[in-house]
Amino acid sequence: MSNHYDLIIVGGGIGGSALAVTMAKAGSKVLLLEKSTVFEDQVRGEWIAPWGVVETQRVGLYDLLRAAGGHHLKTHVTYDETRSIEESEAVAMPLDVMLPNVAGPLCIGHPHHCQTLFDEAGRHGVTALRGVEVNAIELGANPSVTYVHNNMQSSATARLVIGADGRSSATRSAAGITLHQNKPHHMFGGMLVEGAKGWNDTKQAIGTEGDFAFLAFPQGDGRVRIYGSYSLDDRRRFAGEDGAANFLAAFRMNCSPENRHLADGKQAGPLRSYFNNDAWTDEPFAEGAVLVGDAAGWNDPIVGQGLSITYRDVRIVSELLNGATDWTPALFAPYAEERCERMRRLRFAAELTSVLDAEFSDEARARRASYHARSIADPMLGAHAGAVMVGPEMLPPEVFTPEHRTRVLEG
Ligand SMILES: Cc1cc2nc3c(=O)[nH]c(=O)nc-3n(C[C@H](O)[C@H](O)[C@H](O)COP(=O)(O)OP(=O)(O)OC[C@H]3O[C@@H](n4cnc5c(N)ncnc54)[C@H](O)[C@@H]3O)c2cc1C
Repeated sequence: MSNHYDLIIVGGGIGGSALAVTMAKAGSKVLLLEKSTVFEDQVRGEWIAPWGVVETQRVGLYDLLRAAGGHHLKTHVTYDETRSIEESEAVAMPLDVMLPNVAGPLCIGHPHHCQTLFDEAGRHGVTALRGVEVNAIELGANPSVTYVHNNMQSSATARLVIGADGRSSATRSAAGITLHQNKPHHMFGGMLVEGAKGWNDTKQAIGTEGDFAFLAFPQGDGRVRIYGSYSLDDRRRFAGEDGAANFLAAFRMNCSPENRHLADGKQAGPLRSYFNNDAWTDEPFAEGAVLVGDAAGWNDPIVGQGLSITYRDVRIVSELLNGATDWTPALFAPYAEERCERMRRLRFAAELTSVLDAEFSDEARARRASYHARSIADPMLGAHAGAVMVGPEMLPPEVFTPEHRTRVLEG
């Protein structure tokens, strides 16, 4: 069997498997190399924003995700200790009317999502290998990857290598692409709960009270992915044996009494905490390689954009590849340009959201109270938050400026 492919994709998570399916459907010969033998719950990536749902539709994977149990959410509520429950619920946001033909954000368990796409790649003729150890990635005019699979070392060549190998991408290192990062702003812990039947399973909610900010994204049938932001100074808050119990207890809030269903839920996966930050690359390509998804830089998870970013990367890169016979680096310049501005805008939105929702001083509390009150009269004050729902390119450029930030934070 020839070991030459159109594409070798390193990493068979969301980005790698989705791109493999898309390219194989268009007739490319694809080798997909995935390190893990089982997709495990990494406590991440289970909510797809409405604009990301559009991207899943455009790459032809939406029906697959729905058939795999993808669950739409219909309402968003922001609770806060500075206002009453009635006040919060009076300004609930409908999620199913934000974009045409999108029934709201789509929730699906991450390991199941990865497995569904990986299996689909195999069904479309991709050579999809698990438990692979990549030993060498050579780029340039004749790219090749050397890897061990089933105790056997092999080398494959391709027209192009795709780095879909996540945050600590080996492809990015091999290509010599610099990763920029900003400083973490807060800690972000998460866990899956089940048996939370009392929680309305089409309602997502966030809220800040005391020294904790919660987020809840139901997946249907009483399963809810819950996250919480807390201070960097308190980074070991949920460590140790009682960590999960303490984490669940933090969800009991006066500003959102329904949270009791989450706090009473049963732990259905690991509790994991991350330092939340942003990372980006100026040019996510080099001769012989293109990066997609987290490998090309990620957005602070507080606004849940990583999957939408990844699906857009897959859509743009596959359109460029399928529309050209010559896969030289210049082909990917429009991708770099669009991604740079997309990530800048999303970074802006995430930084502003972090300051608003995940700071816990008296000053922060007063700032939130003022913001919530003013944004009822002036909906454009929340435009940065709208960007993470409908897509950052849908809002005017002046939203992503220091002036908007000052208006939001200082009134
Ligand atoms: C706490 C947290 C919560 C999040 N919540 C959300 C959310 O609600 N919504 C959202 O849109 N995004 C969210 N994200 C972001 C989202 O999870 C990622 O952006 C998304 O998973 C990126 O997909 P990917 O395919 O690029 O990378 P990954 O999911 O990291 O997949 C990379 C794959 O490559 C494999 N791999 C790595 N190295 C190698 C190698 N050398 N050889 C072979 N295979 C390799 C890995 O095993 C993995 O399967 C969250 C992130 C965090 C940290």
